[in-house]
Amino acid sequence: MSKQLLIAGGGIGGMAAALATARAGWQVQVLERASALAEVGAGIQLGPNVTRVLHAWGLGQALAAVAAFPERLSVRDALSGAELGALPLGARMQTRYGAPYVTIHRADLLNLLHAAAVAQPGVQIHLGQTLARHEPAEAAQASGAGAMPGVAVHTESGQTLQAAALVGADGVWSRVRAQLLHDGPPRVSGHLAWRTLLRQAALPAALRSQHVTAWLGPRLHAVQYPVRQGEWLNLVVITEGAPPADLAGWDHYANTAELARHLAPLCAPLRDLAAAAPQARVNEHAWRLWPLCDRPPLSGPGQQAQGRVALLGDAAHPMRPYLAQGAGMAIEDAAELGRCLAGAGPADDVPARLHAYANARWARCARVQARAIRNGQLFHATGPVRLGRDAAMRALGARVLDVPWLYSGGPAA
Ligand SMILES: Cc1cc2nc3c(=O)[nH]c(=O)nc-3n(C[C@H](O)[C@H](O)[C@H](O)COP(=O)(O)OP(=O)(O)OC[C@H]3O[C@@H](n4cnc5c(N)ncnc54)[C@H](O)[C@@H]3O)c2cc1C
Repeated sequence: MSKQLLIAGGGIGGMAAALATARAGWQVQVLERASALAEVGAGIQLGPNVTRVLHAWGLGQALAAVAAFPERLSVRDALSGAELGALPLGARMQTRYGAPYVTIHRADLLNLLHAAAVAQPGVQIHLGQTLARHEPAEAAQASGAGAMPGVAVHTESGQTLQAAALVGADGVWSRVRAQLLHDGPPRVSGHLAWRTLLRQAALPAALRSQHVTAWLGPRLHAVQYPVRQGEWLNLVVITEGAPPADLAGWDHYANTAELARHLAPLCAPLRDLAAAAPQARVNEHAWRLWPLCDRPPLSGPGQQAQGRVALLGDAAHPMRPYLAQGAGMAIEDAAELGRCLAGAGPADDVPARLHAYANARWARCARVQARAIRNGQLFHATGPVRLGRDAAMRALGARVLDVPWLYSGGPAA
């Protein structure tokens, strides 16, 4: 029983954790509240720090079969359309960091992690199971639920499961975190993400693109990049404004008149791309709206693990998406967790191993959270800050867009 692990949440972080810890010899049960594994229709960028981990797990081929490999990141002024700076991706990333920069549909990433996890012996995924609360197994034993040193998890359907440790990978509204840290709900960022996926074949040739393009405007920005081997284009527009009332159900069909108002002053290529969404849309609804919530950067390892309970991914360090690393940090967390739990024996000190995991992760995740907040301020800058940003980008280009400490760091593969 000593090498049994419970993971709450079967998203990208939970599935990556199941894979990494099963590879380390643990028996893993994943509780996912959804009745089917599903990711929203949207894209995700993965830097070389993340693809290095996926390659180390033997997922390089599976990734290549579904992802896109953009050659270039171009940063443009959203008002004039002029290029402010560019960073070569493609071969440069591979040469500099030993792994590629990829863009991928979230469902494709989740599917490949899930397939790899369930191919490991000892991984069980329980769908439609919502963690209600957890407690030390000794407490569950006292209330008659059964005996085992470790953690007991109670589900909303009335089941009790026990294991040596619990990983909360249950996202930004994490119940595991709420019970572990009692630090209240995440904070509302005041930023809204409008997301759509477009079929490139249905777009006018001038709007098709195989690059990552970030468009920076006053109090908004947009990012577009290819997914599904370049056949689809992911477009996200981030604006500032009040969130819808139902924050926790954070995936809403969008009011496109409101989006059009934000886009009106922007350059024609970006407006045209957004306007093409109804014709070229992939999903039933052209646009979906996500209010963005985050937390201040982690301030110590105790926020990422205590005793036999660890947090991972957005449950531990929900961040603004302006460094495109939230899922990346979840995958890095998973790799580090697997490394720390590898070789554990029957009499092993599981809390010490989880503490080692938190120690290895918190400062890097905090740095990424802080940088993401700063990027958001720079992306949306107005007035003199905007002028300074643009001048720096024009003068230094790739040197301000590359992030060596991030792309070359992360868990040892
Ligand atoms: C607009 C936008 C763009 C982004 N772009 C990028 C990007 O380019 N690159 C990048 O790396 N990251 C990006 N991110 C961040 C990334 O999406 C998240 O960091 C990542 O999805 C977090 O994964 P997770 O598994 O930790 O959490 P989640 O994806 O939230 O998964 C949590 C899972 O837990 C389940 N769950 C919740 N509560 C319970 C419970 N009580 N019991 C059982 N199951 C439960 C949920 O159903 C869900 O499946 C972006 C985010 C946004 C909003």
